[in-house]
Amino acid sequence: MSQRMQQGQPMIVMGEDAQRVQDRDAQDYNISAARAVAKSVRSTLGPKGMDKMLVDSMGNVTITNDGVTILKEMDIDNPTAEMIVEVAETQEDEAGDGTTTAVSVAGELLKNAEDLLEQDIHPTAIIKGFHLASEQARKEVGDISDDVDPDDEDLLRSVAETSMTGKGAELNKEHLAQLIVDAVQKVTVEDEEGGHVVDLEFLNIETQTGRAAGESDLLSGAVVSKDPVHDNMPSEVEDADIMLLDSPIEVDEADTDTEVSVTDPSQLQQFLDREEEEIKEKVEAIVDSGADVVFCQKGIDDLAQHYLAKEGILAVRRAKKSDIEFLTEVLEANVVSDLSSVDPADLGHGDVVRGEEDDLFYVSGDGHGVTLLLRGSTDHVVDELKRGIEDALEVVAQTVSDGRVVAGGGAIEVEVARRLRDYADGVSGREQLAVEAYADALELVPRVLAENAGLDSIDTLVDLRAAHEDGDQRAGLNVFSGDVVDTHDAGVVEPAHAKEQALTSATEAANLVLKIDDIISAGELSTDKGDDEAGGPGGAPGGMGGMGGGMGGMM
Ligand code: ADP
Ligand code: MG
Repeated sequence: MSQRMQQGQPMIVMGEDAQRVQDRDAQDYNISAARAVAKSVRSTLGPKGMDKMLVDSMGNVTITNDGVTILKEMDIDNPTAEMIVEVAETQEDEAGDGTTTAVSVAGELLKNAEDLLEQDIHPTAIIKGFHLASEQARKEVGDISDDVDPDDEDLLRSVAETSMTGKGAELNKEHLAQLIVDAVQKVTVEDEEGGHVVDLEFLNIETQTGRAAGESDLLSGAVVSKDPVHDNMPSEVEDADIMLLDSPIEVDEADTDTEVSVTDPSQLQQFLDREEEEIKEKVEAIVDSGADVVFCQKGIDDLAQHYLAKEGILAVRRAKKSDIEFLTEVLEANVVSDLSSVDPADLGHGDVVRGEEDDLFYVSGDGHGVTLLLRGSTDHVVDELKRGIEDALEVVAQTVSDGRVVAGGGAIEVEVARRLRDYADGVSGREQLAVEAYADALELVPRVLAENAGLDSIDTLVDLRAAHEDGDQRAGLNVFSGDVVDTHDAGVVEPAHAKEQALTSATEAANLVLKIDDIISAGELSTDKGDDEAGGPGGAPGGMGGMGGGMGGMM
């Protein structure tokens, strides 16, 4: 204590309900919490992984196979478990895919760390060993990876399909993979050094329910899912001058708020005339600007609708802000905010076409921008489709910009593990054991892929290891046949960058948990370790309660 005070740190005064768990108990507590979270997503890994149905407190249902979505929706309130959720979020942000892998590997690293702790190996040595192993593993991924020609459409399609396999997008994966590759290529530019830059900002994803996923389409331009505000308006305008407006075509709010006391009917009439005048002026400003079409982010007054229709102008109200922003790219237009000073140069130019079977405007213009229009029968279907497509877009974009892929189906993990074991021979001290434990943890991926496919995970791993010993770097698991195959040739390919990121995220999370030897909680803390195989401390009271509630029905 005196030392703490000297360092100028506050003395810790704990409240009555406060609890403190230290050393091995703290480690055990944290490790089991983290492992429980990891375990909860493991069954979704790979093409044969199952989906989860998540029901939130409002009764909203999400059906998904996406690791990060599951963890985000799970409503976890255990702090250690939350750190694992952050791994998934980092992975999602940095790589767009591989969240289940990152979280599962983090859980396995901690499981193996627990064994080492039991052998009285100090956490510092484990942390150091994991860190060394992770650095080396990243190097090996770089060494093993194959270079990609960014114009190699076949390969890019395989990357997209690998990412979609086992997801809602799977049923139409050939069609969707082609759309994804086309979309990414449309928004790719070459920079001065000959590198490829993919700007997904120019790509918009729009969803529509009611039709089959196979009818999804890639369009140049934007779609706006709205109706004209007035029946007498044109529903299509070709060669149109288009205004994007983010203020209402209504009487200014400041005016409507003022209270008017009317003493005789003529005063009321005057007041109404003034309002009508104001609306007229706004419509006139639109007419004067030369606009044939107005996409308005705010409301449009009934009277204004009537005048606009009379002028033959197509107007849409309450357009989404994101749609308006995307339209600025598609039309090379600027958003107009003030109708009293419109610069006609802010208007864009293009065609507005009405879909025949769907209530959509298809807007194309002089600028950039493509829209991936995803269709599906119901909201649940479309939502899961969208999550799968977003991941696939990210990985294809990454493959184009980074230019490296690795063989999936566990091939990369088994090869890196093999090389790490060689590397471990040169590592001295207790750290060597940690490097070996790290290698073992990576092999969780093929083991779980096999397990989820109903195959024997031990046999699979033995076969895979043997193939890699024979120098077959790309030997992975065909989850459908159970055979060991060259997964790269079989089209199961993933971006190297996502794998590197998964290693980094998993290691950082595991090390973060291992570094903690003291938990001081303001509230009650359950020290029930929980039996991991039975689903971890999910049902424990107190600190783990939230997790139990969130995951109750899923494990
Ligand atoms: P993540 O959230 O980690 O991306 P996924 O459920 O998408 O989890 O599973 C990814 C794993 O599935 C990767 O290891 C990948 O190589 C593997 N995989 C994908 N498609 C196939 C396939 N057709 N055969 C074998 N493994 C596959
Ligand atoms: Mg994936």
